[in-house]
Amino acid sequence: MCLVLLLRRSQVRVLKDIYNFPLELRDAKKCKQDDMHNICFICGKERFDIDRNSEGGFKNHIKIEHHLWNYLFFMYRIKNEIDEEDFDGIESFVFEKVAILLSFFSFSE
Ligand SMILES: [Zn+2]
Repeated sequence: MCLVLLLRRSQVRVLKDIYNFPLELRDAKKCKQDDMHNICFICGKERFDIDRNSEGGFKNHIKIEHHLWNYLFFMYRIKNEIDEEDFDGIESFVFEKVAILLSFFSFSE
């Protein structure tokens, strides 16, 4: 009788783990989506602080001031379209940082 009770408890635990796993994934996905909608990817400031301290609010901030694609386009131009000899100060700085970042990844050529 006791063995049956232990088996049932262990089975319940396994079933609970199996059914909670998708809940954990869903929670992680929801948390990630909340971050995407409430935190600027570029500067890390939160929506509440940006809305309180800027005229256009969070949407203006992520669409105009810190638009992700503008940063990627800038890095692409520095890496592929401008000669190093023609860099200004900001471009030299970003080029060095991007080179360090890309050296972290190993690309097979
Ligand atoms: Zn920002």
